[in-house]
Amino acid sequence: MLAYLEANENNVLFAAVVGTFIVSVLWEAVRPRRRVNETSVARWGHNITLSLVNQVLVYWLSVAATLAVAWWAARTGTGLLTRFDTGFGVALVTTALAFELLAYLLHRLLHRVRWLWRIHAVHHSDTELDFTTTYRNHPLEVVLVALATLPVTALLGPPVAVVVAYQMTRASVNILAHSNIYLPESLDRWLRYLIVTPDFHRCHHSDDRQFTNSNYGAFLPLFDYLFGTATRKPFAAYPTMSIGLEYFRETRDSRFDKLLLMPFRRVPLETARPETLVHSAG
Ligand SMILES: [Zn+2]
Repeated sequence: MLAYLEANENNVLFAAVVGTFIVSVLWEAVRPRRRVNETSVARWGHNITLSLVNQVLVYWLSVAATLAVAWWAARTGTGLLTRFDTGFGVALVTTALAFELLAYLLHRLLHRVRWLWRIHAVHHSDTELDFTTTYRNHPLEVVLVALATLPVTALLGPPVAVVVAYQMTRASVNILAHSNIYLPESLDRWLRYLIVTPDFHRCHHSDDRQFTNSNYGAFLPLFDYLFGTATRKPFAAYPTMSIGLEYFRETRDSRFDKLLLMPFRRVPLETARPETLVHSAG
């Protein structure tokens, strides 16, 4: 199994992403969480175009570069995990926790630092949330996150098979978390403590800043609970809550070219203020 993951890293990751997208599309069609409106059709083309651009960057910078560093660490004996024969399970949990902590801290920085927020606002400016929002990120954000991930990978030295297993699981959960899919309250109530559920992440895309600046996890919600940034809305609130930002709400704001230029546009200072609120777990 481990040898298979190492030998087929590209195919396994591609299959996980495409397979989850297919599941999301079907799930959204059969059991959507929110009503699909006319703005959704207009958004899809621009979101998918930006996503395809990002897939090249996500793949080459984030995935392939991380795997290359993991290969290098294994060959040269660099990194913490190469010094101990921990076995697959311990290495996977250690790697997931380290990468998720890094992702959590980076995400908080993206909300806190003004120029980073301008870049990250491209993701939050979507006025609905569905599978097409997953990779609606500004390419600069993809580059910055990838650059921060590489030194951590070198310090940790995770086995290549572990990186592949982590990345395919994370990508699948992340796509489902952005999808407009319904999960029963009885399931969401406990699942949201294990992985980021669609409602958990939907809260993060609320246009109400007290919720935008919460629920930073994209795969594991653990650090939101540990650091007191986990929030929730009543189960019945999600179908009608307003998604997006207080600005960039016009249909034309979500055009592909506007999305690329968005970090360089002026927004009112009082609404461009980065994170000011941190919330207790709920
Ligand atoms: Zn965010």
